[in-house]
Amino acid sequence: MADIVLSAVDKIFGSDRVVSNVDLTVENGEFFSLLGPSGCGKTTTLRMIAGLETPTSGDVTIRGQRMNDVPINKRPTNLVFQKMALFPHLDVFENVAFGLRLKRLPGAEIKRKVGDILDVVSLTGFEKRAVSQLSGGQQQRVAIARALVNEPAVLLLDEPLGALDLKLQLHLQRELRRIQKATGTTFIYVTHNQAEALSMSDRLAVMNGGKIEQIGTPAEMYLRPATSFVASFIGRTNLIEARIDNVTSGAAHLSHEGLPLSVPAEELGAGETVMLSLRPERIEIRAPGAEGIDATVTEAEFMGSTVLYRMKTASDRTLIVQTLADRAPLRDGESARIGWAPDAAVQIRQTSVAE
Ligand code: ADP
Ligand code: MG
Repeated sequence: MADIVLSAVDKIFGSDRVVSNVDLTVENGEFFSLLGPSGCGKTTTLRMIAGLETPTSGDVTIRGQRMNDVPINKRPTNLVFQKMALFPHLDVFENVAFGLRLKRLPGAEIKRKVGDILDVVSLTGFEKRAVSQLSGGQQQRVAIARALVNEPAVLLLDEPLGALDLKLQLHLQRELRRIQKATGTTFIYVTHNQAEALSMSDRLAVMNGGKIEQIGTPAEMYLRPATSFVASFIGRTNLIEARIDNVTSGAAHLSHEGLPLSVPAEELGAGETVMLSLRPERIEIRAPGAEGIDATVTEAEFMGSTVLYRMKTASDRTLIVQTLADRAPLRDGESARIGWAPDAAVQIRQTSVAE
């Protein structure tokens, strides 16, 4: 069953439409992310699911029940955000137990539930610790335990790892993923960090200017971006505009820098201009004299397992090229033969591009 459905949801503040015609379905038990740059409407969308904002129009449905007018405390959701306020005068156990005490559960049940959830977040043994004596990552895990102990159907997380250092972020990304799978809770995770969304999510939605541009699995979003915004926000890409030379049996043929490319034609015809995304790792550095074109390195960025080059072609176009760092990197000013397979690019729709 779908856990959460947003249909045609708009949110207007004053004269600003900050969320625009959002349609979204999140399945039961799914790890679903809302990804997009700062200001695109992620938090507002999450707050409408939580009940902290009311949609200007459209419907929010949770587990089959329309939620638009249901107050926050009557919704089966719980929210975790970046700077969770823990109760500084309470220890770890009491911070987590807080909601259960409000519900007046029997002491033995509270003890069992808190014990179970502290185990899930790997904080067994920290029950009596003052929260002020925990690291940032431990505090955030207490906050997550406090939200999970109420067994919400849906946990809403708004950039929960944003304030932590990178190493801790990477660790807690895996932890959160593990916790989500272990509890079967539906997670809706808001982030502006594309690597985070790709590595954690079952599916994600990319938002831009209040609209959803695409929804899919991480692999679908990367391999078959629908728009120029998605292609450039998720990873790096070369955006190419080209005119179709001819169409044969369902394939449109064109060329870029004199090298052939083809995409499924569907409704395309010769002479039409299309936009394509050519990922940097689909461009190969080839042996001198091999089929391809010559290009000159203007910038080389050593990234560990790969090297990222900016290269200029004879017609003064820049291409981003990424190769495995399995040989001595090319240097600035050095020139090399590059090329790509005809099916290396995918067709995309033009939308506004990030940065
Ligand atoms: P994100 O979480 O993607 O960074 P937000 O949902 O917080 O984006 O904000 C989207 C837009 O809505 C921003 O331009 C923000 O300034 C605006 N906004 C958010 N909340 C309010 C509010 N309560 N009143 C007016 N404008 C708001
Ligand atoms: Mg936000």
